[in-house]
Amino acid sequence: MPGTNLTRDEARERARILAVDGYTVELDVRSALGDSGVFRSRTTLRFRCSEPGADSFADLLAPHVRSVTLNGRELDPAEVFDGSRIALPGLAAENELVVDADCAYSHTGEGLHRFVDPVDGEVYLYTQYEPADARRVFANFEQPDLKAPFTFTVTAPAHWEAFSNSAATGEPKRNEDRSRTWSFAPTQRISTYITAIVAGPYHVDRDHYSRELPDGTTLEIPLGALCRKSLAQYFDSDEIFNVTKQGLDFFHEEFDYPYPFGKYDQAFVPEYNIGAMENPGCVTFREEFIYRSKVTEAAYEGRANVILHEMAHMWFGDLVTMQWWDDLWLKESFADFMGAFSQVAATKYQSGWITFANRRKAWAYRQDQLPTTHPITADIRDLEDAKLNFDGITYAKGAAVLKQLVAYVGRDAFFEGARRYFKRHAFGNTTLNDLLAVLAETSGRGEEAMAQWSRAWLQTAGVNALTPELTVDAEGRITDFAVLQDAAEDYPTLRPHRVAVGLYDLTEDGRLVRSRRVEVDVRAEARTSVPELAGAPRPALVLVNDDDLTYCKMRFDEESLDTLRASLGTVQDPLARALCWSAVWNMTRDGLMPARDYLDLVLRFAGLESDIGVLQQLHTQARLTLEQYVVPEGREAAAQAIAAGALTEQRAAEPGSDHQLAWARFFAQSAHVESELQLVAGLLAGTARVDGLDVDQELRWAMLQTLVASGRAGDAELRAELQRDNTASGKRLETAARAAAPNAETKARTWHAVVETDELPNALLEAEIAGFQQASQRELVAPYAEPYFEVLEKVWAERSIEIALRIVNGLFPRLISTDATLARTDQWLAEHEDAAPALRRLVRECRDDLARALRAQVCDAR
Ligand SMILES: [Zn+2]
Repeated sequence: MPGTNLTRDEARERARILAVDGYTVELDVRSALGDSGVFRSRTTLRFRCSEPGADSFADLLAPHVRSVTLNGRELDPAEVFDGSRIALPGLAAENELVVDADCAYSHTGEGLHRFVDPVDGEVYLYTQYEPADARRVFANFEQPDLKAPFTFTVTAPAHWEAFSNSAATGEPKRNEDRSRTWSFAPTQRISTYITAIVAGPYHVDRDHYSRELPDGTTLEIPLGALCRKSLAQYFDSDEIFNVTKQGLDFFHEEFDYPYPFGKYDQAFVPEYNIGAMENPGCVTFREEFIYRSKVTEAAYEGRANVILHEMAHMWFGDLVTMQWWDDLWLKESFADFMGAFSQVAATKYQSGWITFANRRKAWAYRQDQLPTTHPITADIRDLEDAKLNFDGITYAKGAAVLKQLVAYVGRDAFFEGARRYFKRHAFGNTTLNDLLAVLAETSGRGEEAMAQWSRAWLQTAGVNALTPELTVDAEGRITDFAVLQDAAEDYPTLRPHRVAVGLYDLTEDGRLVRSRRVEVDVRAEARTSVPELAGAPRPALVLVNDDDLTYCKMRFDEESLDTLRASLGTVQDPLARALCWSAVWNMTRDGLMPARDYLDLVLRFAGLESDIGVLQQLHTQARLTLEQYVVPEGREAAAQAIAAGALTEQRAAEPGSDHQLAWARFFAQSAHVESELQLVAGLLAGTARVDGLDVDQELRWAMLQTLVASGRAGDAELRAELQRDNTASGKRLETAARAAAPNAETKARTWHAVVETDELPNALLEAEIAGFQQASQRELVAPYAEPYFEVLEKVWAERSIEIALRIVNGLFPRLISTDATLARTDQWLAEHEDAAPALRRLVRECRDDLARALRAQVCDAR
């Protein structure tokens, strides 16, 4: 599509001369029941121009524009519309633009997504816009700093319900053809990317939240929770409302700014590309958060975190919005940080900071060591840049750095800063300086100190490693303790770190417990001495980032590392233990610990792990280690050891427990030798049993995929299972399992479906990709390494960015980890200097993962 991009410079210029008074958007989605593929969209846009006579443009991605009227004058669509923009020549001081268009339903989750439920044939619609897909649904100025009130009306089939950011102004109007029209109240002034429509025969549960405000009035917030009818039987909306109310209590307490958007609906929608989206009053979530089968507590914790993350956005992001995508972190880092913070402060999910340390930060550490890493405040030139910036830096590193900021300025100063920020910038747009200004006021650290802190943490890229250095005398007492800091060659910034140093010793009954903790300011230098620890007995284990206050790779001295090798699983405190697991994982990735040593730690100590989220993360990392970091000649023995270990732990786990389920899933994925595969087949057929383990639908699909991938099940079994579970999720899991079959025809069919046609909806495309590359099938996927490089540019040019992202990342030949693949990747990069920067970024990241895998294999070979 020509010119679907939008640059920062264009947006800046448009915001300089335009101000929007309001939108009226009329959508007619009665056609959703048919197969025309388009719906009617009529937008009236009222805006002012500070330089009358100037030209500008509106954004619209639509297959057909019926008419364009500017200030009463009909413009010829063929002249002013180029497929993505509407030229607006000769603006007046006050303008009215009316655009009548046929817009396309989406099957990629971008814009107005249309989904047909295989269970009952019902059609469901929802929108997803960030960063710039509202223009697929109505004509607009698609940039976050041109805020406006929006008034939506939706005409939909007779038996549907429709929802938007604000409540309907009354009962929907019944039309002659029995369809109904909903009129929604005008919204507050908000950005285009957080407007929303949800429509279909959704199941709705309702509840209510009210709260006395300091001024004596009562705040009333109607709550709604939506899902497809066929999922209603699994919908635990009570628990969702419960977390919602706890969150609303917490944020009102801390932010001191009443929720400004009226009602609060949460819609769980099908084929959703991301976790959730913070549309004010109409938050959308991926419906996989509704659990059809037994899941572990970690899944409920994860969902609560997302509910709270989106709720934090009502203030950070929706009420106060970044001016441009450079400052995306302003909302995402805060929401991520507040998600964990509020979860621990206000809900029963007390592992929030453990999950944050172990899982969320692993995302940040990975991203920050890629050659494409960037400062938290990024340089976002255009929308393609913006699309790729929803990454581990913007979310997880930003949140980790805010945690460090709280350690630096104190909790009270941090929240007082937030309160002033909301009041000062309500319904406006901000940049980094606006935040630093309030923090300088409230922290007492002053403007210069905040600017320095910002330069060190927000405006430079890269992660530091912190290592303890101990000198010990003949009696075993510390004579000198220092924290050493280093940085990667390409990102040499050393930073001030506020850390807690923890000293741990073994108790008589063999547990590692903390004997001493000191909080220290590590200077932005290579070595910071810690005189407080002189004279202390040499401990068994030193943690230089105890309590996870800062963002760093934590390293160990030799003796501490020996202690961990012998007794990692006995570290008593779950957060400290999670930090140790995270540290040895970073060492494995960095080629400092042989991959098989890491797997050995997992085999010996994962069975002792009490935190279910950490355990499941260990399973994921063990699989990645086995597939990519273990030296090729060691893979078979390692795979056998992992599978045998998983089976042992599955048998040892308490019947019916989360741990049993986690190990059963891991075993289902890892089963390797004949007897294990037979056991999986037996469990699936019901001829074998594990006490307390319910082989429910999701587990059945995991088992079936393993059997298909090993050639022990095929088309007949897949058909039978789909008949048993003929649902959206069943179809997805069946597709993944089918793509895993160990034969060349399957790989050819999958490749064709994903790369050479554009028919699959996002969810099924993702499933095909997930099944395609199996560790046991390296020789079957090897022939696709070369075609991958040949189609990259075509894919990028022809597919929507969501789909292209999945293909470029998902089909990179990561299992063919050889120097030849690395060389081929380098060759592509050298020959495509002019390819889209976002595409080059993705390929460079895949290349880096591969180079890292090769380095880890060299380490593992030693
Ligand atoms: Zn977010």
